[in-house]
Order: sequence, then structure tokens, then C-alpha cells
Amino acid sequence: MVNARAQDYKKLHFNSILCDTHNDIISTCLEKGYSFDQDLTGKTHSDLNRMFKAGVDVQVFSIWCDGTQTNPYAFANREIDTLYAWIKRNPDKMMLVKNSNELMQAVRQHKLASMIGVEGGHMMENDLHKLDSLYARGTRYMTLTWNNSTSWATSARDETQHSFIVSPYGLTDFGKSIVRKMNELGMMVDVSHIGEKTFWDVLAIVDKPVIASHSCVYSLCPVFRNLKDDQIRAIAKNGGVIQVNFFSGFVDSTYDKKEKAFVKAHQKEFDSLDAKGWSDYYVQQLMSKKYPDEAKSLRPPMSMLIDHIDYIVKLVGADYVGLGSDFDGCESTPVGLDGVQDYHKIVDALVQRKYSQQDIKKIMGENFLRVFKANVVNYAGRTKGAISTAKAF
Ligand SMILES: [Zn+2]
Repeated sequence: MVNARAQDYKKLHFNSILCDTHNDIISTCLEKGYSFDQDLTGKTHSDLNRMFKAGVDVQVFSIWCDGTQTNPYAFANREIDTLYAWIKRNPDKMMLVKNSNELMQAVRQHKLASMIGVEGGHMMENDLHKLDSLYARGTRYMTLTWNNSTSWATSARDETQHSFIVSPYGLTDFGKSIVRKMNELGMMVDVSHIGEKTFWDVLAIVDKPVIASHSCVYSLCPVFRNLKDDQIRAIAKNGGVIQVNFFSGFVDSTYDKKEKAFVKAHQKEFDSLDAKGWSDYYVQQLMSKKYPDEAKSLRPPMSMLIDHIDYIVKLVGADYVGLGSDFDGCESTPVGLDGVQDYHKIVDALVQRKYSQQDIKKIMGENFLRVFKANVVNYAGRTKGAISTAKAF
């Protein structure tokens, strides 16, 4: 029997515009030979039909490679081609969205508003024309760095581990010209993954709201790329948004220690899988399937993820937080959040914590929509007369 409260939160869930700003299903499909429009239940966190049934309205698909490729720009375009192919095959269910008018059109037509976010500045290969082309193909945010630094911006990993020998850390003059160009184009500046020095250099020069597309709270889980309180306050002051990441290791400060013990307990098996050249993410996934009880014991309760949302709301208000799951890019998520089919549980948890309907709708998507709208122009011109000379790829 469904009780009244359950009906209420489900109604609220389906009446909200649910936006998720970070999903790595493209990389996962390319690595494993899957396709997003197949039934991938039991294999991935996401697929098209599950997103549909789950009431996901807007998905930013992450374009990612780790920076070791000789031609990351070509790699990025191959991933964008993959998304284009999925959209072309499913015109009644998916729509490429480049501005907020198109986004609302997709929502009204009950199509998945499909957006592109490039995760790592290395993919523009130090070439502003390539940045133009990525924009022309639909890229609406670029994460300035992934874990790897570029020659113009230092990452959180490198700044904290001192693993990138460059002085000073932060954004170079060329990096500043990239950020300014992104603001002119209407490409959101994504501050997830960047080092603190880079973060403050970015915040000093942006004239549009920034996004942290998939980041959590350092005070609750002090890992290298979670956001400290002063960073959260600065994003709120800038009118930006922090989209919380579901990865257990960013949610729960005890995860890392538990996960290391799990690896140690099965070191030989991990080593032999690593020797096959598979990604850490894939190896972790295989081992989690082989040892499900142990893998489950590593996962935090979902309430700990809600704590991150709560923390940001208490610090700066309900206007600056949303969801950036990292589904299909992270090997472990809180218990109960097994994939896109479980977003409604977040709505339920927020209802239980006495959040207002209005605030829940903001968190589920409206905060992101505000930031997107403030960045992206809805007409053929440019907000500040920026010139884009490069041809579309
Ligand atoms: Zn990431």
C-alpha cells in the first residue's frame, strides 16, 4: 500500500525539473562496447529507458579522457559523435540542448534534454579555435582541469600532492584568456577538480556564475577536491551552484581507508586485473561484483549524501546546490542509490528533512537552470560581442 507521504514525494519528484550535471556513461559505453539506448540494467548506473522512467529531464553528458592521449581533442570529438549518434537514433526520446529555450522545449516534449560538458581543459589542446569548435558542437561547460593539470591551470590533485612542477600554481595569463573567452561564448566555467589557487584566480575574473558540476563538501569529507567553506561561500556570492557528487569516497571520509583494506585483502586479483590494462574504475566494478557483501560494506548510508546538501543549504541557502551524480564514473555510491532509477529517494529524504517543495525543486534542477540561463545566450549573437571565427568541427 502506498501511503500519502509516498505519493506526495513522487508527485513532487515528477513535477520537478530534474537536472543532473555529470554522468560518464559515454566513456563507459566506449570502454565496454555498450550503447546508452540498450537495456544496461545490472551493468551500469544509467541507460536511456531507466532515465526516462526515473523522470530525469536534463542530463549533462561528460566528455572525458584522462590526459595521457596524444590527441585528446580528437578523442573528445569521438565521444561527442557517440552522443550525436544516440540522439539521432532516438529523436523521440532525446534532444541536444544548447540553450535554455531548447532545454524547456525538450522538457515540454518529454525528451531527455541532452547537454555536453567537457571534463578537462586538456581536450582543447591549448587552442582557442578548438574551444570555439567544442562550443559550436554543443559544449556548455568545461571543467578547467580534470585530475591532471594543464599548462595553464593547476588541478586539485596536483596542488595538494605537489605533483606538478610549475610555479606559481593557479591560472596563467593564457588560462585567464580561456576563462574570459568561455564567459563570452556562454560556456559555463566548471570549478570541480581545479586546485584552490586556480579556484581563487578564476573567481577573481569571471563575470558569469560558475558551476561545480560534481563536487562535495570538504568539512564533511576532507578529500583533495571537495570544496572548503570559503569556496562554497564564494560560489554562492558569485551566484553559481554546487552540484553534489554521489561517489562514496567524496561523501564519506572513512571510505578511502575501508576501500584500501578491501584492495589489500584481494591484492593478487586486483594486480592481475590491473595487468590487463583496464581502468581502475572497471577493475573496481568487477571486484565489487565478485565480492558484493564486502563492496556493500564500503558504502555509506544515503543520509550522508543528504548531509552534504544540508550543509551547503545551512551555510549559504537553498539557491546554490544541486545534483551532479558522477554516475557511471564512480565505482561506489551510497546504499540505496544504485543508479538513475533512485533519484526519487533523494526527494523523499529531503521531504523527510522538512524541506519546502520550493527548495526541493530548486535543488533538483532550478538552481542549475538559473546558472545555465545566466551563462548561455538564447539567440545567434553573443552576450558581449565575442567573435567566434573557427568553423564547427
Ligand atoms: Zn570528475
